[in-house]
Amino acid sequence: MLERNNELTAWDRDHFFHPSTHMGMHARGETPTRVIGSGEGVYITDKNGRTSLDAFAGLYCVNVGYGRQKIADAIAEQARNLAYYHAYVGHGTEASITLAKMIVDRAPEGMSRVYFGLSGSDANETNIKLIWYYNNILGRPEKKKIISRWRGYHGSGVMTGSLTGLELFHKAFDLPRVPIVHTEAPYYFRRPDRSMSEEQFSQNCADKLEELILSEGPETIAAFIGEPILGTGGIVPPPKGYWEKIQAVLQKYEILLVADEVVTGFGRLGTMFGSDHYGMKPDLITIAKGLTSAYAPLSGTIVSDRFWQVLVQGSDQLGAIGHGWTYSAHPICAAAGIANLELIDEMGLVRNAAETGGYFRSRLAEAVADHKHVGEVRGDGLMAAVEFVEDKDDRRFFDPSQKIGPQIATALLERGVIGRAMPQGDILGFAPPLCLTRKEADIVVKATAEAIENVF
Ligand code: PLP
Repeated sequence: MLERNNELTAWDRDHFFHPSTHMGMHARGETPTRVIGSGEGVYITDKNGRTSLDAFAGLYCVNVGYGRQKIADAIAEQARNLAYYHAYVGHGTEASITLAKMIVDRAPEGMSRVYFGLSGSDANETNIKLIWYYNNILGRPEKKKIISRWRGYHGSGVMTGSLTGLELFHKAFDLPRVPIVHTEAPYYFRRPDRSMSEEQFSQNCADKLEELILSEGPETIAAFIGEPILGTGGIVPPPKGYWEKIQAVLQKYEILLVADEVVTGFGRLGTMFGSDHYGMKPDLITIAKGLTSAYAPLSGTIVSDRFWQVLVQGSDQLGAIGHGWTYSAHPICAAAGIANLELIDEMGLVRNAAETGGYFRSRLAEAVADHKHVGEVRGDGLMAAVEFVEDKDDRRFFDPSQKIGPQIATALLERGVIGRAMPQGDILGFAPPLCLTRKEADIVVKATAEAIENVF
């Protein structure tokens, strides 16, 4: 076993170009290679036989947990019957058509159709193209800019990397700045004026959005994209009244709303969609991760009926839409999606995300919120974060070179639990599988408290 592991480690360093990894350190062997071999429920086991409780569900995606036979069987059966057929010019498979219907049945009111992709990034690229197409069909070609938020995460493609409002994803790539514009993050904990109430801060975000729209020219702004709760940007729930106030501004200037529900879709916040949870009425919804619980790569853009009617008008004027991926609606991925959505219902995972999520977050706050270096414990449903500060009273942050977030994530891993050091700020994030039990939540809380004590 050891020999095999050493061989894999050597091949990994020499041949595997990892995403989001310090390339030099990894190739020189200064960061560990961890070869994951199997998973069961909320646990994964590596090739050295070390088991960890995965309190981040991979990359907040393995929502039903690891090792679900039902999904494995559905994938195998589909691969045996029909591994592939494309979805161009009206083709479909029983799996892709059924899954589209299941998604729309679960989606917020007014949604009507799903365009399938493979990743959250390509689904957001589809959104951008559809929005441009939509405004061209409506005869307003100047209405093209998309507003996104600082700290939003929407993918790593050319346009979606640009939508993403995190420095790391822009550094040295020269991504196009136009036609993307960024606005204030709804980050109440980091508000510049600490005397503001949540409602005032939300109003302030809406006012800044309106100022931006007016300075750019409302006739040039096509859409606003946002995650219902900021995810990769720090797991930051919206402050009170935020979405209501933002949507009032968008309606005033006929700006479309895209809800990026790649993380929140299919139960993570204790409702099927985050839009339902926060009263959002989107025109487009991005889905991925929880759609298949990552048993196979699949994403989608759900379009509202109102938006769809304009696309139909477009085809009537211009012919078939020139947008397609070879693997759109891949039948094996669709079969995984069907089994996964059935499992979410059968296991009562949406309700569990609300109930166990509430339990987990309150236990976490009881255990660590009073620590002198914990600035805030926050979250919603089965998403939680602990943000660390150097000084609690004047809310002074640590110098990034101290890498407090990564140090705590490492100390947590040493105690058998995986959390994520979020990429910007000293923030430890949690988004466990939706099947988490109270007993497992207790294990995560205990290990977190110990990891914090260990680092400070
Ligand atoms: N949108 C959101 C909100 C995400 O969190 C992510 C990935 O984490 C994406 C889009 C991009 O998805 P993918 O990594 O599948 O391209």
